[in-house]
Order: sequence, then C-alpha cells, then structure tokens
Amino acid sequence: MTPEIESGTTASGAVLVKGIGELVTCAGPDGSTPTDDLTTPAAHRLGIVHDAAVVVDDGRVAWVGPSARAPGADRVVDVGGRAVVPGFVDSHSHLVYAGDRASEFTARMAGVPYDGGGIGVSVAATRAATDDELRGLLRARVAEMRALGTTTVEIKSGYGLTVDDEVRSLRLAGEVTEETTFLGAHVIPLDARGDRAAYLDLVCGPMLAACAPFARWVDVFCEPASPHAFTEDEARRVLTAGRDAGLGLRVHGNQLSAGPGVQLAVELGAASVDHCTFLTVADVDALVGAAGTTVATLLPGVEFSTRSPYPDARHLLDAGVDLALATDCNPGTCNTSSMPFVVALAVREMRMTAAEALVAATVGGARALRRTDVGRVAVGSRADLAVLEAPSYEHLAYRPGMPLARALDLS
Ligand SMILES: [Zn+2]
Repeated sequence: MTPEIESGTTASGAVLVKGIGELVTCAGPDGSTPTDDLTTPAAHRLGIVHDAAVVVDDGRVAWVGPSARAPGADRVVDVGGRAVVPGFVDSHSHLVYAGDRASEFTARMAGVPYDGGGIGVSVAATRAATDDELRGLLRARVAEMRALGTTTVEIKSGYGLTVDDEVRSLRLAGEVTEETTFLGAHVIPLDARGDRAAYLDLVCGPMLAACAPFARWVDVFCEPASPHAFTEDEARRVLTAGRDAGLGLRVHGNQLSAGPGVQLAVELGAASVDHCTFLTVADVDALVGAAGTTVATLLPGVEFSTRSPYPDARHLLDAGVDLALATDCNPGTCNTSSMPFVVALAVREMRMTAAEALVAATVGGARALRRTDVGRVAVGSRADLAVLEAPSYEHLAYRPGMPLARALDLS
C-alpha cells in the first residue's frame, strides 16, 4: 500500500475516493442494489469490488464501481490500495457517564460475580458531574469510536435515573447522534430501593414525558435474575408506555439468565433485543419467526469482560435469526468501543465467519436501528466509509487488537 494522497483545489463538491484495493459494499455485488434478504449468505452480501472507487457528493454516495470506469470529480482522495468497508454501526452503547469502575473489573476477574449492582456507582458519579464535564467525556468517547471506524452510534441514557439527570443525558447524547435511547429503566436506583412501584410510576410517567422529546427509542433492562433490574411485567409496562409516547422499542434481555426478555421483545415488535446470551429453544424459535422485525444484537465484549459464556451465534445464524453485533460500551461490563475488537471476538469466540461478522457489524447494526441509509456503501446511502490499514476486511479478525480501521474524513 502507498501513502494516501489528496488532490484538487476546492473543499466542496464531489469527491472521488479511488485506489480502493478491496471495497466491501454490504450492498450486493455492484453496490447499487441494497439487499436485506437474510437468506443470502453473508459472503455474497459483502458485495466485494476490487480496484474500486466511490464518488461522494453532498455527504451521500453518488457512484460505486471499478476505478477504471470512475467519473470525474472536484477532488480526488487516493487511499493507496487499502480496503474500504462501510463505517461500523454500533447499535448499543452507554457513553454518557462519569467516573470509572476499574476496581469492580479487577474484583470480577478475581472471582466476584456480576449482578448489575455496580451501575449505582456510575449513577452517583454521573449525577455529580457538570454538563461540560459530561459533554467532554462523551465527545472524547465518540472520537475514539470514529478513530476505530464507527460512523453511527446509538447512545442510551440510564446513569441519571432522575427526571433532570435523564433529560440531561439524552440532551447531551443528541448533540452527537440522532440515535438516542431513554433508559430510565436501567436499574432501580439506590435511593428508590424498597419502593419499586414508585420508581416505575416515575419512569413511565413524568420521566418518560420529559425525556421522550429527546429520544428516538426506549429500552429496559429486563432481567428477573438481578434484584436491580426489571421483571417481565415491569418491562412490559415501560415498553408500552414508551411506545405510547411515540418511541421505538429496544430490550436488554437474556443476559444473565434465560429470562423473558426475548419473548417480550418479539411480542411487542421491538427493533432489537440485545445480549441474548442465555436462550431457550422457544426463544430461538421466536427470534426466527421475528426475523425482519426484531434483530438479536450480540454483545460479545460483555462476555469477554465478565468472563461469561458467549451467545451461540453459530446456532442463531444457522437457524435464520437476524443478527447484529455491537459493543455495549459502558463503564461496568464492557469498557471498549472497538467494533474491530467485537468482530474479532465474534469470529474467534462465536464461530461467525469474517463475512458474517462484518455484515452483522454494519448492515446488522443498521437493521437494529431500522436504518437503510447507513451500514452499506450504496448509491444514495450516507457517505460513511471506514478505511482499513490492510488489503482486506479479513484482517479485522486476523489481526485482533491492531488499530486497522478508521472513519474516512472527507470534509
Ligand atoms: Zn447495555
């Protein structure tokens, strides 16, 4: 690979990105026919074009094809033979928080089990932070993500857990993404313990009303195995209230046990049920039946960081479940925002092929957010490209932990 070169005189207008040794469109073989057909094998859905070029105009992809047939443009960026993939779509993160829980991680590695209780530590630190402190932390985390190739990120509230602190978290998240999720039902906060019903009333009433204008989604940590999280009936109440307020639905389900989260998400037509670590046969059947509506989002960084068994991705894929991969970046159970690391875990630990993992980390994440304009390099899609310091996407799993991917800045 040769160094990247940029030429041209104008800062605006169409940009020709050329010298792409391997372009993965995740949009069919010619990058112009987006396919959401889950029966098409991931290797075909990659839509690889060798010696490729992409024309970007006004933030959108205007042309995709072989370099030799590329039209002219106002500006040229030559990526020197590197591979280009769609920017990663991280459909599950908790980036608005202060403080850290490194000591909890250290204790967990020494054998202390995780039950969701440590979230209270992050709640206290987040409430104590100023707006500017939280904003600075959030923006630094988003910059880290872009530096690793992520171009779309969903961000949840959930470390405020008062009306004002949840609104503040969503307002700040909305400064960096349009995919904001109200997670007042993250845990029962320490200061509300003993009166779950009153906290549920708050979440489904005044807190939801105040937060809904700043959120696209509502989410709930449905996990009867944890005393800090929410039961099936409580979760149903949160989700239906959110739906009535105009929000889309997401669920944290089946993380610590084969609980009711998956069935509830499917019943209510949620866009995604996330974790899916412990599933029954009936859960898998429900997810197969919901393919096209409810995505199962796997978060293997959590299993890595909590030393837990991984979800059975191979079984889910073979059964026909609609899968996504995301980081769940958060201060407690998975403090990494690296999608390349998640792809490497998916391949090494969950037996996904490199193609399946890349599709799940791009198109899959987009489907989990019900988006068709990201996660692919197709005419009309957002011009979100990730450049790899490698000749092929396969290196994402082949070279774990290496800084291979970054978002291409065309501004
Ligand atoms: Zn989460």
